[in-house]
Amino acid sequence: MCGIVGYIGKNNINEQLLTGLKKLEYRGYDSAGIAVLENNKILVTKGKGKINELEKIVQPSKATCGIGHTRWATHGKPTAVNAHPHLSAHKEWVVVHNGIIENYLELKNDLLKTNKINFKSTSDSEVIPHMLEACHVKDNIKALIQVCRSFQGSYALACMNKDVANTIYLAKKKMGLYITHSHGEVFIASDPSCFAGKSESFFALNDDEFCRASDQNIEFFNQNGEIIHKESEKLPVINDYNVLLTNEDFMLKEILETPSMLKKIIETYQTKKIFNQVTRDDDNVLKRVNKIYLIGCGT
Ligand code: GLU
Repeated sequence: MCGIVGYIGKNNINEQLLTGLKKLEYRGYDSAGIAVLENNKILVTKGKGKINELEKIVQPSKATCGIGHTRWATHGKPTAVNAHPHLSAHKEWVVVHNGIIENYLELKNDLLKTNKINFKSTSDSEVIPHMLEACHVKDNIKALIQVCRSFQGSYALACMNKDVANTIYLAKKKMGLYITHSHGEVFIASDPSCFAGKSESFFALNDDEFCRASDQNIEFFNQNGEIIHKESEKLPVINDYNVLLTNEDFMLKEILETPSMLKKIIETYQTKKIFNQVTRDDDNVLKRVNKIYLIGCGT
């Protein structure tokens, strides 16, 4: 599992991306990187280790669009070259990926048959920018849709093309990806809790949906490249998001979150009337319970 962020706006790009990544560090922390788009040039900074190591090497930038990644390696060692973002051969595309491209070796071999590409990493994700660059479809969102059709596996992707200023392209299958905008700024993240304090609502990308986000607007597309309308969702007001923002230790954060998470789960079950199904409509069942065991998995 990795964490992805994206930002379009006039505030300090490094600060925006690094703050977002720190909030997602619980998802992976073996290496990290950012890419910013400045005057039709993509600049990538990445390295091994946690976000505070990355923070030491990022150069000041006036860019107004960028993407970032905190990695938990699935394919390829946790090294600087394997860290995301990954660039295409001619630096036209840059991509951050959360998930696994299961057929990447097959796709890599196909690419190598027709293109002279010097793969830099051993990560499955590197095929993505190369495939985007090799794709002859002119419309970038259509190119992304076409490329994603070849993938087997899971992905949440954020990509930038060097020729399109202030624009981030998104795609998703089986991994979470969220976007919001507020006061001329666009925020993208693998976890909507990152939007706390920035916006009260957000859009959740569904599987096989695509997005083109720019400083002008956010557009969503289906697999056929047709524009679709999506409703925004309300960001839950959970005070624990502040715990997430202030606690260095994610285990402590999760322990502190337990009471409000349980309250949330109970409320969800009550609204959906699932308790009635569980108790087979016998209201007295819960009254006879004298002990409750709680088990959990994941975060
Ligand atoms: N498979 C990619 C890699 O190893 C992304 C990892 C992930 O999402 O955890 O670089």
